[in-house]
Amino acid sequence: MRHFVTTLRGHHVQCAVAVAAALLVLAALAGCGQSPGYRHYRGEAMGTGLALTYAGCAGDVEAVVVQELKRVDAQLSTWRSDSEVARFNASATEDWFPVSAPVAALAVDALALSRHSGGAFDLTVAPLVRLWGFGPDAPVNGSAPSAEAVAATMGQVGWQKLEVRLDPPALRRRIAGLSLDFSAIGKGHGVDGVAERLDALGCRSYLVDIGGEVRTLGQGPQGGPWRIGVEPPDGGMPQWVLRLSGQSAATSGDYRNFRLLDGRRLSHIIDPRTGAPVSHPLASVTVVAASAAGADGLATAIQVLGPDEGWNFARRDGTAALLLVRSESGFERRYTESMSQFLEP
Ligand code: ADP
Ligand code: MG
Repeated sequence: MRHFVTTLRGHHVQCAVAVAAALLVLAALAGCGQSPGYRHYRGEAMGTGLALTYAGCAGDVEAVVVQELKRVDAQLSTWRSDSEVARFNASATEDWFPVSAPVAALAVDALALSRHSGGAFDLTVAPLVRLWGFGPDAPVNGSAPSAEAVAATMGQVGWQKLEVRLDPPALRRRIAGLSLDFSAIGKGHGVDGVAERLDALGCRSYLVDIGGEVRTLGQGPQGGPWRIGVEPPDGGMPQWVLRLSGQSAATSGDYRNFRLLDGRRLSHIIDPRTGAPVSHPLASVTVVAASAAGADGLATAIQVLGPDEGWNFARRDGTAALLLVRSESGFERRYTESMSQFLEP
């Protein structure tokens, strides 16, 4: 996703200045000096970039945000060994493993999405992600895993093999070796955490962006809703712009994170039903929802389901979704009725 004031996979371009992603904020600041009361902050979070624009907050926003991001990292990161999820993964126990309340709550939501999406979204997919050469400790393979290796690894995967308890908060694996990967909702969860901190500081407007997953409140610096451009999968100028005020949005695409294998693009999104990376013409899915974690998870689920099943899934639930499907003449755009209210004409 690309919008007009920050960058990353989501990028804001406040003054319709589209330049190289990393320059967007500066260009926007230089180009629209008249945004009274709005402040900007950029940093790193969850292995990607964080960009904030906010107004009307009381208190030390930066300190509060940095503290919140540390908290989320200590909950979910699988790139460090001492986070709650990393410690669960490293533990062999098949008893209840205590976690913090937010982690248990997020796992409950993730399991609901797994059930609802027929297993397309699956927190337990990590061994398959690793087998296909993605993730923190993936071996670099020059060739695709064998069908036997895929089948064996699928035996270690399955959301039904995870149990979650809220009180007291804890996780339990039903089979040895089950491990968790919150990457597909982690950024959204981080965005929600930061947004809730800003809510508590009484901010009247904000745009929180972590790696292209966003949450908004109030108005953008130019008045009216925040304008957020959806990055075209082939680069270039955003052709589709969302107008958000109080909603969140997330994009899942096949074009940012992939590796090449025998000239084939392998997506880092795995279809848990086949055990293989998704391979279909759905280039990107953008979802608008109340929470960023909700949008993030749904976007990944629809990306797994693909252009037809994913489209039906989104329509059936009234999900606000924009799908860009590769076609011979470029990209075919499909959006659900509930998305139309957020799309700039
Ligand atoms: P994107 O923004 O491209 O959708 P995300 O960062 O939200 O990507 O999530 C992708 C990550 O989620 C992968 O790198 C992997 O760790 C994990 N993942 C892959 N397949 C699935 C799946 N079917 N369900 C849940 N998580 C997945
Ligand atoms: Mg996602």
